[in-house]
Amino acid sequence: MDRVAAARAAGASIISLSAGEPDFDTPEHVREAGIAAIRGGQTRYSQVIGLRALREAIAAKFQRENGLDVDWRHTIVGTGGKQVIFNALAATLNEGDEVIVPAPYWVSYPEIVQLCGATAVTVACGADKGFKLTPDALQAAITPRTRWLILNSPSNPTGAVYSRAELQALAEVLLAHPQVLILSDDIYEHLIFDGIAFSTMAQVEPRLRDRTLTMNGVSKAYAMTGWRIGFGAGPDWLIEAMEKLQGQQTSGASTISQYAALAALTGPQDFIGQSRRVFQRRRDDVVREINNAWGLHCEVPQGAFYVFASCEALIGCVTPTGTELATDEDVVGALLDEAGVATVHGSAFGLGPYLRIAYALDDASLGRACNAIQHFCQTLSK
Ligand code: PLP
Repeated sequence: MDRVAAARAAGASIISLSAGEPDFDTPEHVREAGIAAIRGGQTRYSQVIGLRALREAIAAKFQRENGLDVDWRHTIVGTGGKQVIFNALAATLNEGDEVIVPAPYWVSYPEIVQLCGATAVTVACGADKGFKLTPDALQAAITPRTRWLILNSPSNPTGAVYSRAELQALAEVLLAHPQVLILSDDIYEHLIFDGIAFSTMAQVEPRLRDRTLTMNGVSKAYAMTGWRIGFGAGPDWLIEAMEKLQGQQTSGASTISQYAALAALTGPQDFIGQSRRVFQRRRDDVVREINNAWGLHCEVPQGAFYVFASCEALIGCVTPTGTELATDEDVVGALLDEAGVATVHGSAFGLGPYLRIAYALDDASLGRACNAIQHFCQTLSK
């Protein structure tokens, strides 16, 4: 993002396929609820753990959408999903603890684990496994020091989605290791395509519920990234520890944003279906165009708004200006400098050589970006 900003400041025209957020506006009734909260004087501290009305709406959401019978007292509201994750890990990890992070992963997981003094144990989950953790790989990664397994479905950066059966198979392994907590990052829950059903671990295996934190939020589902509201449901001891930490960190999430999130969860839900349809159409367009680009290849992701494309064939090539492409980071740099398109290299997410292409962008810009990528690939020489 820094390089895009610098290039734009220097007058270059850059199309960014690197955004991690929907390009839509927050739904009108949600924005109005935020304004009404300000006008109505809801501008003071809320409870550290979140407004009761919002926590009740969160419990209702878990029941309605995930079939999870959650007591609102076992929910917590944080400043974005990220704070929920951070607090869960910070409240539980000690030096020497291990956290299993399937790779490719959202970049923040290993960083947060490291910040907590623990060790991220990354497990390579390649394209041959659909970028998903298998029961055997999970079993092999668990040690007596394992404290958490982090699961993210639909996934950032691959868009991979775990089926109910796949989660059940992982659950069978986890049932034999009671020291392992499960963090289910469901932030992309609603961005799931082709009519497939979303599943989350606490729903699939009720015997794991007392050691699973189900984390979600309004950022991606309701295009509310800037409002900074995320939430989680989990065992009471964990929620209590997270609340204690939050009390000394942020004193809770913005009250105004909590009222907006309440409107999002309890108001009309048609925005979710509309944005899903738009993203699915864009996904189809981008997958087709990327697979038409010389040297790039991607499978069809089932969720989120990312395409994770292999650029292996580009490695070792030279661009018309003489730039050698030795790594996926070189490919990303050359695409930016020579084609005006910003992507993120797969190795930043723990698996190269890949490009993460975010299609949270209008159709015309996406079309131009895909053309520029295809032209760039065509002009490479070995
Ligand atoms: N989890 C994943 C996988 C994400 O990609 C993101 C944001 O990019 C988050 C969590 C954090 O979401 P929030 O903006 O609600 O903090």
